[in-house]
Amino acid sequence: MKKKDIIVQKYGGTSVATTKRIKEVAERVIYTKKAGNDVVVVVSAPGDTTDELIALAKKITDNPIERELDMLLATGEQQSIALLAIAINALGYKAISFTGSQVGIITDKIHTKARIIKIDGKKIEKALKLGKIVIVAGFQGMNTKEDITTLGRGGSDLTAVALAAELKAKICELYKDVEGIYTTNPNIVPKARKLPKISYDEMLEMASLGAQVVNGRSIEFAKKYNVPIYVRSSFNEKTGTLITGEEKNMMEKLLISGVTLDKDEAKLTILGVPDTPGVAAKVFRSIADRHVNVDMIIQDVSEKGITNISCTVDKVDLKKTLIALGRIKSEIGATGIIADENIAKVSVIGVGMLSHPGVAASMFEILAEKKINIEMISTSEIKISCIIEKKDAEKAVQAIHRKFNLDKQKGSKL
Ligand code: ASP
Ligand code: MG
Repeated sequence: MKKKDIIVQKYGGTSVATTKRIKEVAERVIYTKKAGNDVVVVVSAPGDTTDELIALAKKITDNPIERELDMLLATGEQQSIALLAIAINALGYKAISFTGSQVGIITDKIHTKARIIKIDGKKIEKALKLGKIVIVAGFQGMNTKEDITTLGRGGSDLTAVALAAELKAKICELYKDVEGIYTTNPNIVPKARKLPKISYDEMLEMASLGAQVVNGRSIEFAKKYNVPIYVRSSFNEKTGTLITGEEKNMMEKLLISGVTLDKDEAKLTILGVPDTPGVAAKVFRSIADRHVNVDMIIQDVSEKGITNISCTVDKVDLKKTLIALGRIKSEIGATGIIADENIAKVSVIGVGMLSHPGVAASMFEILAEKKINIEMISTSEIKISCIIEKKDAEKAVQAIHRKFNLDKQKGSKL
């Protein structure tokens, strides 16, 4: 007999928030099974369960010991898998649920943000062979000491992608409370368009830039193992977005796929430092020693051997960064430090810009036309980001979206 295709489906917290929704998920899973596939389902904890469990632990202490926190958080997903298996069995189909450790999802030892080291797919394959629908708890695994670990917030996506890679699934479907990946946030641009397809690289840039639809680490994993991901809604039958590798000769290659907005960063400027070797090294070592990630960095042209250095960090890290810089201020001879939280980062993303000059110029032109000042710029091969004043953020996104015709199927072509 020909081996059936394996389809991995993942349902997020909102999709399993109530028993009514769990029954609807059960029906969708059965539908996929009836279509002749082997189905492996990954589920998140119901609704806000994970947040509630964290809050519970924090009621006892601000600093819950992480091994036990993982033990606690893993119970959220354990509820969903059991309830879904009960629902599917009640509808007359065979389903069996497993925790992460039961199916041999082995991780490193870093509690609350563990990485998957390997998966033993045998137990799942055996159950599939018996005609069962297999349901696996997302977001969790076990380290080599057999302690339960969790994979970081939003980690169920990663469980699904990793299982799809291990089982050589035909596709990994992520069912969300949105219909797919959009050219930008539809709350800012109502005409934002759902993208039928996007590359892993573009999606990675989108994920790290605040379009938090799919967990970033799961995209990295999917890219590494070439797992196609299909993002769609669990509440309707509409088509979603396929995240996949790049097709070399895609005729319809768009210049730009999306515009993103990040309001979670703050800008720091270190004033009047001597332009001598070692100053930048000292500045950024002091920040790095506090485990703060720096995003953009700019050093002004120096005047009479004196210059300014600016950088951006996540707002939550601003205090730590200011303390770090305060400590070395006199050592490096700086005259002052300014922090600015009233900034926003707008970015355009698209593999099309790899082979097409002029994207940056077009972006800067439209910002100029709208009288929006650019404070900092950074680029990668497929992304251009500008720091602007926060009050201009939405206006900038709308203008850029229009400029590149992102509401149109054709977009701006190469
Ligand atoms: N339940 C976990 C969380 O809320 C994992 C997930 O939803 O993917 O982060
Ligand atoms: Mg950020």
